[in-house]
Amino acid sequence: MATPAPRAARSRWLNVFLMEWLFLVAGLILLGAYLVYGQWREHRQIHDRERERLLAVADVLHDNVGRQLDTINRALVNIRDELPRWRQSGPTLGDAHRWLKAYSDAMTGVRTLAILDREGTVLASNRAEIAGRNFRHRDYFQTASALSDPETLCVGPPYVTVLGVFALNVARTVSTPAQTFDGIVTATLDPDEFKILLQSVRYATDMQVEIYHGHGRVFMVVPHPGKAPDERAVASPPWYARHLVPGPSAGFAVVPAAPGARARMVALRSVQPVDVKMDTALVVVAHRDVRTVFAQWRYETWIKAVLFSLLVVSSAGLLFLLQRRQSQAARDAVVAADLLHRKNAELELLNRQLHAQSAQLRSLALVDGLTGVANRRRLDEQLDAEWRRCLREACSLAVLMVDVDHFKRYNDRYGHQAGDACLQVIAQALQAGLARSHDLVARYGGEEFVCLLPDCDRAGALFKAEDLRSAVEALALPHEANDTGGGFVTISVGVAVLRPSAGGRPEDVLALADRALYRAKHQGRNRVCASPDGAAEPASGTDTGASDRP
Ligand code: GH3
Ligand code: MG
Ligand code: MG
Repeated sequence: MATPAPRAARSRWLNVFLMEWLFLVAGLILLGAYLVYGQWREHRQIHDRERERLLAVADVLHDNVGRQLDTINRALVNIRDELPRWRQSGPTLGDAHRWLKAYSDAMTGVRTLAILDREGTVLASNRAEIAGRNFRHRDYFQTASALSDPETLCVGPPYVTVLGVFALNVARTVSTPAQTFDGIVTATLDPDEFKILLQSVRYATDMQVEIYHGHGRVFMVVPHPGKAPDERAVASPPWYARHLVPGPSAGFAVVPAAPGARARMVALRSVQPVDVKMDTALVVVAHRDVRTVFAQWRYETWIKAVLFSLLVVSSAGLLFLLQRRQSQAARDAVVAADLLHRKNAELELLNRQLHAQSAQLRSLALVDGLTGVANRRRLDEQLDAEWRRCLREACSLAVLMVDVDHFKRYNDRYGHQAGDACLQVIAQALQAGLARSHDLVARYGGEEFVCLLPDCDRAGALFKAEDLRSAVEALALPHEANDTGGGFVTISVGVAVLRPSAGGRPEDVLALADRALYRAKHQGRNRVCASPDGAAEPASGTDTGASDRP
């Protein structure tokens, strides 16, 4: 049954369901935002931490290489200062070779020390194999002779030595007393020594540490990506010049190591000790692969993303199932309520029918089956009730006892069925003769009837009795055997009228009426006789009254 109630309930559930979805979505968005924020913060922390570590490595390299350069610079100055003394020993410079060897042995970062004349020829060196060779074509010699500044440490670009070593030379110029160029003292940096230094600061396998000549050519790469030491082919990457900060500050950038390559976090720093005047700085660089740096972070982010997705799917699924179950339960409840409602209506209808049937049965139980007037049981109930009412209200109660005259003979003459029909007609005549609604006609038994007339005095009762008697007589129903009735059906009536007293009983009035009826029969039938008893009101013309007939 489609009623507004289920529609209202449905709209209420939909609102509740919508609210639940809104709460879930809001909760998931908040949680998602919190997770994203957490990952973003962690990413920044890792980035900042890694930046600090790479800058720290650049600082360590800067300090170490700077001190090496400072030491070498001092050694070159000392050698240059000793040169005039050694020159006094002749063109072979006396024991300069021994001194140079002592210096180079003392300085682990130096591979070769040499003194070159203004033509570039080696006058003295710790390595005997290069004595007398000419290196005027070398960049470091060219640069130093061109600069010709005795206060400057010239840093030459990397090159391959005659001994096949990839190296880098620093040099101080030697001047004549007239301050003209008179050669150089030079030191070849030991690549093996610098390789050890660079390796010592690496703390991750993806980390690469490098030293560049200030003009951009690489001197050292650890670990070297190729096989043999072919650093000579390596030029500085494009980001080198862009992110190198001149002076003591370090530079930092996240850039691809080469165009199209993966991004790397790069820390760079110029090496140019304060106490050393250098024509060109060296540059130390430390860099790491960004993907590797964030590998763990990426792994955790994936895990959290997967867990969060699972949470989203499972919570949405659970809510969906829960709501489907609730909505099913609510629908079932509506159906059950509807069914209950219909059953109630059916029960109500049945109840009404039952009441009606019960009333019918009750009325049937109080009606005489043959004549349709009240039966003996109804008479007893009504008589009892009227008796008590008249006792309460101190009014009189009249009873007419009616008996068909010679009815046995009627049956005998016309048959029992005709007798039944006759009784029905008489009953209807009696019923029709009582106009007041509270008067009652009842079949007392056999062919006897009782009329109950509440609030009726003796005169009224006698009048009504005579009225009924003459009404039956007027029917003119043939009764040949009724010799006292002139060949028609007649009745005799006994009348009793009394005012009920506290000590009396309802049967008393019936007994009085019965005695009056007996007298009526005895006096010849087809007549009315009234009770003369003291309980009754004094009646005028009782047995022999005007209504009496011979
Ligand atoms: P009286 O004038 O003295 O009353 O004579 P009576 O024959 O009427 O009285 P009696 O008591 O001797 O007979 C009553 C008869 O009424 C007997 C019975 O056959 C008849 N009767 C009683 N009840 C019924 C009934 O329901 N149907 C029919 N057809 N006859 C009945
Ligand atoms: Mg009788
Ligand atoms: Mg009779």
